[in-house]
Amino acid sequence: MADWEVVIGLEVHAELLTKSKVFCGCSTEFGADPNSQVCPICLGLPGALPLLNRRAVELAVKAGLALNCRINQFSVFARKHYFYPDLSKAYQISQHELPLCSAGYVELLVGDKVRRIGINRVHLEEEAGKSVHAGEDIMSAAYSLLDYNRAGIGLIEIVTEPDIRSPEEARLFLEKLRQLLQYAEVSDCKMEEGSLRCDANISLRPKGSSTYGVKCEIKNLNSFRAVQRALEFEVERQKALLEAGELVVQETRHWDETQGVTFSMRSKEEAADYRYFPDPNLYPLEVEPSWVESIREELPELPDARRNRFVEQYDLSLYAAEILTSSRDLADYFEECVEEVNDPKLVSNWVMGEVQRWLKAHGLEAASSPVRPKDLAGLLRLVQENAVSNLVAKDVLEEMFATGKSAETIVEEKGLRQISDDSALEAMIAEVLEANPGPVADVKSGKAKAIGFLVGQVMKLSQGKANPQKVNELIRQKLQV
Ligand code: ADP
Ligand code: ZN
Ligand code: MG
Repeated sequence: MADWEVVIGLEVHAELLTKSKVFCGCSTEFGADPNSQVCPICLGLPGALPLLNRRAVELAVKAGLALNCRINQFSVFARKHYFYPDLSKAYQISQHELPLCSAGYVELLVGDKVRRIGINRVHLEEEAGKSVHAGEDIMSAAYSLLDYNRAGIGLIEIVTEPDIRSPEEARLFLEKLRQLLQYAEVSDCKMEEGSLRCDANISLRPKGSSTYGVKCEIKNLNSFRAVQRALEFEVERQKALLEAGELVVQETRHWDETQGVTFSMRSKEEAADYRYFPDPNLYPLEVEPSWVESIREELPELPDARRNRFVEQYDLSLYAAEILTSSRDLADYFEECVEEVNDPKLVSNWVMGEVQRWLKAHGLEAASSPVRPKDLAGLLRLVQENAVSNLVAKDVLEEMFATGKSAETIVEEKGLRQISDDSALEAMIAEVLEANPGPVADVKSGKAKAIGFLVGQVMKLSQGKANPQKVNELIRQKLQV
């Protein structure tokens, strides 16, 4: 890649976390029976009139603020026309010439460099319905079913400037965007439920060139990993074309996840193909600057600020703070636990290590963890009091995840309390010393390392319950070293 520069711009759709749809009162609840959440407005029956959901505007403004955008006091809803069965009106209500938010940016940490990715616009629009094909795919299906429950749910479309310079950077951008939208409680950004979707535009140009090359748009990207893989494939495909002296055709390409390739879907439509015009059923949208300011004041602490506060307040490394604030839920989890045990280092080690490990193993997020922050605090108190060793505590946590029992209960039920009582330890030590004359002789002759072996044997005999520091001390006393 010495000679080519990669240029990428993303168009991301995020479903808004409103209870009702953007132009009618139907519920947005996911997973209901097909076509049970529809009305004349979202079905697009003739004569039905849309009415804008104030909360949807508020969330779109929040998104704009979180992405450092200018919030335009005056914006306009437009009809975007295209024909597809899941769009019953044959137009989508969107924004075109005058969007709600423009000219923002997102900062990314790539390696040790901060990269600023421009946000061209954030606009408000509505979802289409969903086609369910009876068969493998649309081409082989005997018939398709239509579910309009999703039709009319509020969406924001976020369009970046072509500022992204590698497939990896595209993935990092999406992770950051998801983090921001989740923190601001604008969208839950669940790619698997389709509440976050992304199309990627990519072109190459000779290094140092100041004009852009011809781009392709890639669709059907169903995960962040798919975005990166599809873009990596596309870099190679376009490079091969350009180096063979051929031209890249401007078109829309489809990502095939199983084959790992993109293929041509259709030639790219132009804005003119959509016959945009202002929707005569909706007033232009005017947002009061004072309202925007009150939304700004209500914005929660955003990820970068929270990360920096974690470094300051809890004396954590930047790395630890970055991980702990990677999602709002995890950061809340950490802070709630610190409030109970008041040892940020201990809590951060456990949350970043064992807790994350078991969450991952059970396919859970911090918010849905069966081990709540106060439960973890219960376990860490036992560690602080030396009632259980670190090693035993790890097993106890595993058991807590599996059974939902408290740390205290598990420790009592299984008799895991650490043995610090001298007489009990001394009996075990005597047994171990007698059984291991070789290592004992080593220790006596000055090989301090052999003590570790003896401590290990006592730990084994006690089934991990002996207090290792105590055992170490007692062995030294006994052998007089
Ligand atoms: P179009 O007119 O094809 O819709 P836009 O200018 O609206 O194109 O941009 C759509 C998306 O494509 C944006 O995210 C933008 O950053 C990106 N983009 C525009 N030009 C290029 C290019 N030459 N290479 C890669 N991405 C591009
Ligand atoms: Zn409706
Ligand atoms: Mg465009």
